[in-house]
Amino acid sequence: MKICRFNDNRLGIVEGDEVLDVTAALDVLPALRYPYPVHDQLVAHLPELRTRIAALKASATRLPLARVNLLSPVANPGKIIAAPVNYVKHLQEVLDDPNLHHDNQISHIQRAGLFLKANSSLNGAAEGVTLVLPDRRTDHEIELVAVIGKTARNVKAADALDYVAGYSIGLDITIRGPEERSLRKSPDSYTVLGPWLTTADEIANPGQLAMELLINGQTRQKTSTSELILGVQALIEFGSRFYTLHPGDLIFTGTPEGVSPIEAGDQFSARIEGLGEMQVLIKPHLAN
Ligand code: MN
Repeated sequence: MKICRFNDNRLGIVEGDEVLDVTAALDVLPALRYPYPVHDQLVAHLPELRTRIAALKASATRLPLARVNLLSPVANPGKIIAAPVNYVKHLQEVLDDPNLHHDNQISHIQRAGLFLKANSSLNGAAEGVTLVLPDRRTDHEIELVAVIGKTARNVKAADALDYVAGYSIGLDITIRGPEERSLRKSPDSYTVLGPWLTTADEIANPGQLAMELLINGQTRQKTSTSELILGVQALIEFGSRFYTLHPGDLIFTGTPEGVSPIEAGDQFSARIEGLGEMQVLIKPHLAN
């Protein structure tokens, strides 16, 4: 099932070039009182939600996919975890280019570990990316994103896919420079998730997915997730040793080689096999 959020916080499922409006299924989510849980309610209740969606489908209003504004399919992730240098060829391109490494100590992921991006940086495809520091080099990074489906602590790699609710395409927009990654990668809109959540039952092997990022129709990044140093299973094992993973937590798995600067007006097309394709516009910095 391909689950999307669109327009004014509506819930849909994507079938071909149509969106079926199943917003009424959100009634299965619990009424909550403060303090709210720090995980995503939609993902935490995905099994019940899917049952309700199936019941609503026949009478759902159908809309053309091309006409809806896609929001982040996960609205309230408890945390956004990201893998810094997780493709061998990307490690090499960063080590080779001072404009990429800025004298930061760059090493492979087993040594560098993971980092967090601010939850407030999360946008959907239709919301685009708004540049915040137009005088600083800012790059695109396409990444496979795993969405955690249930609470995970000290999970072994062999069991890790049992903890995945689904997958989406991610953009980890990055200001180059000497600051910590979490600062450079966390301005508002610098984390894009979409175009929708493809549930895990549709993806037999997240380690064999072709991926490609085009800007203004030209290919910039193109590889397969088979090139990942630590795949989804190993990242869940690694991450769950440090933090408890909760439903809706996002794991950005890292970007392949081919990163390059972006500018206002650029139109991204990001594709991952089985997860769809999303169009994302880079918008100019807006002065106050
Ligand atoms: Mn990245």
